[in-house]
Amino acid sequence: MATLTAARKPGLRRELETIVGAGGVLSDPEELLVYESDGLTLFRALADFVVFPTSVEQVAAVVRLANRESIPFVARGAGTGLSGGCLPAEGGLVISMMRMNRVLEVDYDNQLAVVEPGLVNLHLSWAVGPRGFYFAPDPSSQQACTIGGNIANNSGGPHTLKYGVTVNHVLGLEVVLPDGEIVWLGGRTRDALGYDLAGVFVGSEGTFGIATKIVVRILKKPQAVKTVLAVFDRIEQASAAVSAIIAAGLVPAAVEMIDQLTIQAVEDAFGCGYPRDAAAALLIELDGLAVGMPAQADRIVAACRQAGAREVRAAADEAERQLLWKGRKSAFGAYGRVSPAYMVMDGVIPRTKLPYVLSRVNEIVAAHGLRVGNVFHAGDGNLHPNILYDPRKPGEEARVVAAGAEIMKVCAEVGGSISGEHGIGLEKADFMPFIFSAADPRADAAPQGCVQSPWPLQSRQGVPHPQVVRRDGARGVPPPRHRESGPGAALLAPGASCRCSTSSAPSSVPPTCSPGSSSRRSCSRGARRRPPCFPAAWTRWRR
Ligand SMILES: Cc1cc2nc3c(=O)[nH]c(=O)nc-3n(C[C@H](O)[C@H](O)[C@H](O)COP(=O)(O)OP(=O)(O)OC[C@H]3O[C@@H](n4cnc5c(N)ncnc54)[C@H](O)[C@@H]3O)c2cc1C
Repeated sequence: MATLTAARKPGLRRELETIVGAGGVLSDPEELLVYESDGLTLFRALADFVVFPTSVEQVAAVVRLANRESIPFVARGAGTGLSGGCLPAEGGLVISMMRMNRVLEVDYDNQLAVVEPGLVNLHLSWAVGPRGFYFAPDPSSQQACTIGGNIANNSGGPHTLKYGVTVNHVLGLEVVLPDGEIVWLGGRTRDALGYDLAGVFVGSEGTFGIATKIVVRILKKPQAVKTVLAVFDRIEQASAAVSAIIAAGLVPAAVEMIDQLTIQAVEDAFGCGYPRDAAAALLIELDGLAVGMPAQADRIVAACRQAGAREVRAAADEAERQLLWKGRKSAFGAYGRVSPAYMVMDGVIPRTKLPYVLSRVNEIVAAHGLRVGNVFHAGDGNLHPNILYDPRKPGEEARVVAAGAEIMKVCAEVGGSISGEHGIGLEKADFMPFIFSAADPRADAAPQGCVQSPWPLQSRQGVPHPQVVRRDGARGVPPPRHRESGPGAALLAPGASCRCSTSSAPSSVPPTCSPGSSSRRSCSRGARRRPPCFPAAWTRWRR
C-alpha cells in the first residue's frame, strides 16, 4: 500500500473534485475529525480524504482512482456502527454514501423498493407507510443508520425474532467491486437462478465492494399489534420466561430484555413507565392477524407469570406502546445519564444459556472494577452488555477492552458467537480465534481482510493498523496473528479447535447481474455472523 505523502495530496484532491464536484471532498484535519470514529468511540483513525459521491459512476471512478494510486478506501454510511467497521484503519479514502439517499422506485404490487445505500432506514418506512407498507429490519438506530450500513453488517433489530435480519429482506444489489467494476448481484425476485451472491455480500462488512443500489422487500403492516410489559424481581426469572415463551411454540415479533441499571437510566431520562425497582423487564410484542391474538397474548402472560413475573400488563393504547418502545430504543442514549462513556458489546448465545452468561457478564465486569447495563434482543439470544466507564480515568479503557474480550470468550464457549449484529469491524478482529481454530483461515478472515484481493480495499490481512489509536493512546489494533499482545491473547487456548461447520465455497462466480439466489442464509443470529469464506474462489474469478 503506497503511503500518501503530503506532496501527493493536492493533486489527488483535484482529481477527486473532478469526479465528485468541488463540494464533495473533505481534507482539512478539523473536517476529517468528524469521521475518525463510528459509534464505538474507543477507536479512531483519520482518513486523508472523505469523499461524497452522488452516483454509481462516481463511486466507481473514485475506487478506480484509489486502485491506480494504491490508496486504501472504506465505505461509510451514517457511522452508527458499533465495531469500528467504517474506520479508515490505514488512512486513505472514506467514501461516504450519505448523498446517495433516494428511494428510486417502489413497486407495491411486487412488494419491493429500489433504494440508494445512504437512505436512512426509517425513511424507507416513512416513504411507503402511507400505502400501508414498511421495511422490516429495525435496528434501534433506525432513525440514523443507512440501509447500506444495514447491508454491510446484516443488521437486525428488536423484530428480528419473527422477521429475520437484513439478508432476509434483500433481493438484489448493484455493487462497485474493489477494482471499480459495476455488477448486479441477485435480482428482483426471491429465488432466482445462480449462487446467492447477494446473500454473500450482505454481512460481508464492505469487504466485497460498495453497494450503490439495493432492491429490498417491503412488507404490509400487520393488522394488529399487542405489546406486553412483564416485570421480574430476579433476572433469572426473566430469562426463564424467554425460554418458556419460545418453547411453547409462540413466535412473538420481539422479546427484549432490560435490566435494572438500564431501567433506572431510561426512567431518569425519559420516564417511560418501567418500574425502577424491577431486576429486569421483558418487552414482548405480538403482531399479525387480529384473530387469535388475544389467545396468544394470554399464553404469553401465563408463561411470564409461571416464570415468576410480579406484574404483566399490556400497553393500553398506541401512545403507551410507543412510550414503552421509546424506553427500549433510547436505552443506549440514556446511559449518558449514568456514565460519561460506555462500550456496547455484541454477542450471541443459545437462549437457554442466558442466566449463566448474564451472571458471568456481571462477574467479569465487576472483577474489572466496572459497571454494566444490559438491554438486548433476548428472544434470539443476542446480548448487548454495555460496559460503563470514564475515559478520563487512567487505565479504565484498557480494563473495558479486557472485560469485553472475556465476555466474548464466554459467548463462544457456550456455543454462541462473537457478534449477533454489530459486526466484527476493528473491534473484534482479535477475537476471531475464539470461534475458528488457528489452522482455519477464517480465524484471520476478519472483515476488511476477507477479500485477498490485489486491490486496495481497506485491508486487515495480518498487518498492524498504524493509524488506529485507542483513546488511551494505545496505537493500532493487534491483528489476529499477533494475538499474544491483543486483548484476547490471554484467553486463547493454544490450538483451540473450531466449532464451526465448514461451508462449501463456490468454484466460480457468474460474471454479472445474474438474478439470483437459490437459498437464503440462515437468519439465526449465531450462524449469520460467521465471516464469509469465499475469498479463494472469488479472487480466482476476479483475477
Ligand atoms: C444507538 C444504537 C443502536 C443500535 N442498534 C442496533 C440494532 O438494534 N441492531 C443492529 O444490528 N445494529 C444496531 N446498531 C449498530 C448500527 O446502527 C448498525 O450496524 C447499522 O447497520 C450501521 O449503519 P450505518 O449506516 O451507520 O453504517 P456505518 O457505521 O457507517 O458502517 C458500517 C459498516 O458498513 C459498511 N458500509 C456502509 N455503507 C456501505 C455500502 N454502501 N456498501 C458497502 N459497505 C458499506 C462500512 O464500511 C462499515 O463496515 C446500533 C447503533 C447505535 C449507535
